[in-house]
Amino acid sequence: ANERESMYLVSEYAANYFKNILWNSELGKAIGLSYFKERGFTDETINKFGLGYCLDQWDGFTTAALDNGYRLEYLEKTGLTIVKEDPNNPNNPKKFDRFKSRVMFPIHSLSGRVLGFGGRILTKDKKAAKYLNSPESEIYHKSKVLYGIYYAKQAIAKEDNCYLVEGYTDVIQFYQRGIHNVVSSSGTALTPEQIRLVNRLTKNITVLFDGDAAGLRASLRGIDLILEQGMNVRICTFPEGEDPDSFAKNNELEEVEQYLKDNSKDFIRFKASLLVKEASNDPIKRADTVRDIVNSISKIPDRIKKEIYVQECAQIMNISENVLFGTLAQIGKKDQ
Ligand code: ATP
Ligand code: MN
Ligand code: MN
Ligand code: MN
Repeated sequence: ANERESMYLVSEYAANYFKNILWNSELGKAIGLSYFKERGFTDETINKFGLGYCLDQWDGFTTAALDNGYRLEYLEKTGLTIVKEDPNNPNNPKKFDRFKSRVMFPIHSLSGRVLGFGGRILTKDKKAAKYLNSPESEIYHKSKVLYGIYYAKQAIAKEDNCYLVEGYTDVIQFYQRGIHNVVSSSGTALTPEQIRLVNRLTKNITVLFDGDAAGLRASLRGIDLILEQGMNVRICTFPEGEDPDSFAKNNELEEVEQYLKDNSKDFIRFKASLLVKEASNDPIKRADTVRDIVNSISKIPDRIKKEIYVQECAQIMNISENVLFGTLAQIGKKDQ
């Protein structure tokens, strides 16, 4: 417990450090702050989300942390510092700032503690990953965290709905636009623990997909996990080339709200329609498709809902209800 507390403390120090660099150093202002402003973030927003900048230095942050009495052990355990043995100098290993030259997004727990960071590179360097995250640690469990949950929790309960977006900037731009019930799994596949976090606040999730369609089919599979927890799922996609960030940046609140209203579709209906379009007249594909949709329906705990969805999907897919119910029964047997 003591070790974890030390990790929390060094993470909080880091968040303040990166924030201070962003607002108060010449390079931080010129590179980091102007980047965020170009993205349309206001001072208030940048401040609220605790955004920061890590300078283009090998160990500027690490040195400052050590000078302030934070121990290398915890800098390494939180992944803020990468430590490499130096064969020529065994008592003094080399230390590198993990997030060198990146703008920083602190990731908070439900109660607002800093658990880790996402860092975005600003150059178009193809070799470096666009986003880099803190490694898994005793305080940062990727699978249990949702970016933005600390800021969103009240609004999720109040609106009785949660928007789930792909990235950090989608959360921030939505929030700034006035839609506060928004969180992100930040590029990783959704996990049951993440869904449980939301499930305690609302039974309704609306999943917003970037308009690049890449991985839409793959992501749809993950949504069965939300159904399994008895939640209602809606899906909304964005126009080609847009994501919630760009859309909220370029449209007024009323327009964003109208878009969400007009384009959010019940997940099962959405999936059934999509599958029908894809399978067209190929009988073998159609058979796979039927199993796929029935598999999703089978995850829904509520029997009445199950039945209603079978009826709906029978219509959408132009297939008899009996066949769907039969498939549902088969899947039920397999699962036992
Ligand atoms: P931006 O608008 O800053 O270019 P984005 O948030 O729209 O970024 P996407 O490419 O849509 O980025 O990816 C969604 C999320 O997936 C990101 O916010 C990030 O959390 C994660 N991600 C994207 N690229 C990478 C990467 N190369 N390595 C790790 N995570 C990534
Ligand atoms: Mn994307
Ligand atoms: Mn995106
Ligand atoms: Mn984006």
